[in-house]
Amino acid sequence: MIATTIESEVRSYSRNWPVVFHQGRGSRMVDRDGRVYLDFFAGAGALNYGHNHPVLKRALLDYLEQDGVTHSLDMLTTAKEDFLTEFAARVLDPRQLDYRVQFPGPTGTNSVEAALKLARKVTGRQTVVAFTGAFHGMSLGSLAVTGSAAKRAGAGVPLGHTWRIPYDGFGAGQVSGLKLLDGMLADSSSGVDLPAAVIVETVQGEGGVNPAGPGWLADLAELCRRRGILLIIDDIQMGCGRTGPFFSFEAAGITPDIVCLSKSISGYGLPMSLTLFRTELDVWQPGEHNGTFRGNNPAFVTAAAALREFWADGTLEKQTEERGPLFEESLGELADRHAAHVAARRGRGLVWGLAFREPRTAQRVADAAFARGLLVETAGSGDEVVKLMPSLTATDEELAEGLGILRESVASAVGG
Ligand code: PLP
Repeated sequence: MIATTIESEVRSYSRNWPVVFHQGRGSRMVDRDGRVYLDFFAGAGALNYGHNHPVLKRALLDYLEQDGVTHSLDMLTTAKEDFLTEFAARVLDPRQLDYRVQFPGPTGTNSVEAALKLARKVTGRQTVVAFTGAFHGMSLGSLAVTGSAAKRAGAGVPLGHTWRIPYDGFGAGQVSGLKLLDGMLADSSSGVDLPAAVIVETVQGEGGVNPAGPGWLADLAELCRRRGILLIIDDIQMGCGRTGPFFSFEAAGITPDIVCLSKSISGYGLPMSLTLFRTELDVWQPGEHNGTFRGNNPAFVTAAAALREFWADGTLEKQTEERGPLFEESLGELADRHAAHVAARRGRGLVWGLAFREPRTAQRVADAAFARGLLVETAGSGDEVVKLMPSLTATDEELAEGLGILRESVASAVGG
């Protein structure tokens, strides 16, 4: 059994899936006893193109074989130059996005920290507006804008300079966060000063797969523009095609001031993170936001290969958008059949959630799925949502197989 004697109690995923994984290929993982699992977790969004995609692996192996530079802080390397060229040509230019690219540290929370610092530096203001249910990372700045009480409690110090408002649909939509924000800012005696920025996810992943409506996002962008507040979209989990388009905010027709990108940007599960912002916002002094691991060249190599492979045309985007209705229908049937237990199904593209009335049921479903060889995690404020996030490159047969296992797992967990 797994060696738990030395790793800290803080470990989490290894508790839900207590096996020793050994190999990964496409949508499958294999444990060291040879048992095969269908992966509907996809590295929490870091493996949109599956495990060890052969084209990305080839590019990585070629680079390593030629003694390509592995570590380089933020020196210029051929790998970095190639990535930036591809990123401009395949992502920014076609969308007419005039963004600068910052390489913060290699994880998502590094991108969020950079975004928050920059927004405060540019505006000279301190407060950042965040939403109920939000998740932005585990370092202090990111935690301050995260919703979960349990996660924030881990900080051990007060987390300030944040104002929280209801996300789209929060509390059955009884209170409009946007009207509240606008109304408070309109009244100079409300006690609310103009914030530096608003940070938001277009679909809250860790929050339980809560998609904001495109109209709501457009209203938020309009409010920010009208009041001179910077809009930060945290696209760390929903970017790189998870909802269909490369950036999840494209569907709302908005252009954020700052964008956080990580997880699947390297395409191979290698640590890599970007903070993008409008050129006029680039007020950083050289070295003002530094870090040793901002030049992970193997990640640049696989990232450039992923852009060439998947974002040269609209094939992947179209396929992901077309697969959304398949999940909607299949989960809808499941929700109808088990209406006493399932509260809702929601999602977009290839990220879907099945919300249960009892949080315990969601964990039972995830456990039953694992017993049948399917990896799914739970999310939401009470972990009441079974979250489905297959790789975008999964075959139709793999998607059908996963949905079939899910159906059996729900039936077994609710005893039907
Ligand atoms: N922002 C969002 C929306 C995320 O989903 C996550 C991670 O799940 C993060 C930020 C933090 O990323 P990381 O865990 O790489 O620090």
